[in-house]
Amino acid sequence: MDFRLFYLNQFFIKVPKTIQVQENISLAPFTTLKIGGKARLFVKAESEKQVVSAVKFAVENDFDLFVLGGGSNVLISDKGFDGLVLQIALRGIEFGTEKDGIVKVKACAGEDWDEFVKVCVEKNLQGLECLSGIPGLIGGTPVQNVGAYGQEVAETISTVRVFDRKSGELLELSNADCKFSYRTSIFNSTEKNRFIVLAVTFLLRQNGEPKIVYKDLREHFSGKTPDLSEARIAVLQIRSAKSMVIDENDVNSRSAGSFFKNPIVSKEKLEKIKESFNVEVPFFSVDADNVKIPAAWLIENAGFYKGFRKGNIGLSENHPLAIVNFGEAGSEDVIELKNLIQQNVREKFGIALIPEPVFVGFATN
Ligand SMILES: Cc1cc2nc3c(=O)[nH]c(=O)nc-3n(C[C@H](O)[C@H](O)[C@H](O)COP(=O)(O)OP(=O)(O)OC[C@H]3O[C@@H](n4cnc5c(N)ncnc54)[C@H](O)[C@@H]3O)c2cc1C
Repeated sequence: MDFRLFYLNQFFIKVPKTIQVQENISLAPFTTLKIGGKARLFVKAESEKQVVSAVKFAVENDFDLFVLGGGSNVLISDKGFDGLVLQIALRGIEFGTEKDGIVKVKACAGEDWDEFVKVCVEKNLQGLECLSGIPGLIGGTPVQNVGAYGQEVAETISTVRVFDRKSGELLELSNADCKFSYRTSIFNSTEKNRFIVLAVTFLLRQNGEPKIVYKDLREHFSGKTPDLSEARIAVLQIRSAKSMVIDENDVNSRSAGSFFKNPIVSKEKLEKIKESFNVEVPFFSVDADNVKIPAAWLIENAGFYKGFRKGNIGLSENHPLAIVNFGEAGSEDVIELKNLIQQNVREKFGIALIPEPVFVGFATN
């Protein structure tokens, strides 16, 4: 027999022997916000085979499925998730040999992202240094095309190995297939919930110079060209000062990072805001017609400030864009503050702020 019987809600159901199913697992400890109720069922997948078996098991028993990485970009409802949470724990990193200055590196989805960046920097491989200190796992990085300090994973991802829940196939998607743009890919837009990322292959430059384009980094090095490890240390220092590195001794890092995306607006809209409020508005050019306005600036100028508190929930004392769980806050506290911020920014500037984290277990998903 390649299955065992599992007693659930007064019935026995068949579970493939390849996976272990746990019941009523509290999800808060798996998230950086430390918020969230229980998963009805929970499976940890350490191999591709286990991923495939768990998906099949969920489909056959009509359970909703949520794929969990490092839990650093999710808000899970206090009601939990009434289905199967599949925790991705596939490990392994393979370094290829250098060819024309480029090294191919394949990392499995369950590897810790920042540890991976550290190892690449130690091997003098360029391309990920500005992404130091971002929490979460490898598999989460293509999902929202993780980016920081002038670098995005889209710049170095060559292929993404996935399990296609629609066709049941294991596929290798090219960089172009993923349709990366600002905090977006097919994984969180057109093909949401279709693919499970199993591994990501990066093309990194051996002994390349770090990418020092972002203002904070340029100012930090003031004209000097650092090596990769100096760039990594600088990024970690800058991020830590903003509580954007997870540190259990820093309550301000108990967040999901930036809670809102930087909105893209027309240049016309930017001019209108400048005129109406008679202020200089910071922006980054996107294309000939559009600019990106920092959501942090909009939030602060809509009346919120670093350290703003409403009971146990509030904004980081070191970054106005991070919603922080300062105590025993629940998911509804986060939603309430999110709504208040969105409402004030909309009323003042006519701009809709879009949340960055994924909402799990709420009525709308
Ligand atoms: C302090 C802090 C700082 C942050 N700074 C940044 C930053 O600078 N830049 C940035 O871009 N992000 C940042 N983030 C957000 C977050 O760390 C990244 O988005 C990260 O890549 C999420 O990965 P994860 O493994 O934690 O994913 P999770 O939070 O577990 O999941 C996020 C989404 O990805 C999906 N997912 C995860 N793994 C897989 C997989 N293997 N296959 C398919 N879907 C999957 C989940 O289903 C969910 O929809 C920050 C977060 C925190 C808490």
